[in-house]
Amino acid sequence: MNSKAMYNLTYGLFVLTSKDSEKPNGCIVNTAMQHTTEPNCISITVNKQNYTEKLIELSGVFNISFIDESADFSLFKHFGFRSGRDVDKFADFDKESFAIASNGIPYITKGCNSYLCCEVMDSIDMGTHILFLAKVVDGDVISDKPSMTYAYYHANVKPKPQAVKSEGKVWVCNICGYVYDEAKEGVAFEDLPADWVCPICKHGKDDFVLKE
Ligand code: FE
Repeated sequence: MNSKAMYNLTYGLFVLTSKDSEKPNGCIVNTAMQHTTEPNCISITVNKQNYTEKLIELSGVFNISFIDESADFSLFKHFGFRSGRDVDKFADFDKESFAIASNGIPYITKGCNSYLCCEVMDSIDMGTHILFLAKVVDGDVISDKPSMTYAYYHANVKPKPQAVKSEGKVWVCNICGYVYDEAKEGVAFEDLPADWVCPICKHGKDDFVLKE
């Protein structure tokens, strides 16, 4: 199979937020879609390693904020490149850039054009990820800016990988553009441990591609 075919699927980008009794948290996901209008049912898929996934399992509620084309890389770094287990992402987030929805969970107002409040109806364990089916119970439009697609992120927001002249193979992080140069590192990318993560965005080896 040509795995590059998968790159031509279209995706949006979203800040997924939830909370427990102590603190809210959020992460970036690219999988949210509507399935039915009556009932208004959507799904999201989120990595089990994300602290937000645990919060959704506990609370059964979440919000999704739709990232628009005005968002810059800092939004992705803030919510996507570190874990809520280590930091309180809303404690050091600009107070003017989010608001609290009717369910008590934050949604993002800067760089996002809409948000939805959702209640989990069912979930499926997909191995690395959990797929949540959810009912939409509230939401609003924030701006008329166009929603950001994953393709737009790659073309316009993600830092461009620096030009590398190397004797060995060079691997590039699909998420943040970080370059792993085997000649410089002295370790073949394939020999890195399975739980190795990108030093910049903390995504795993699966998100790297060999530069041709
Ligand atoms: Fe990365």
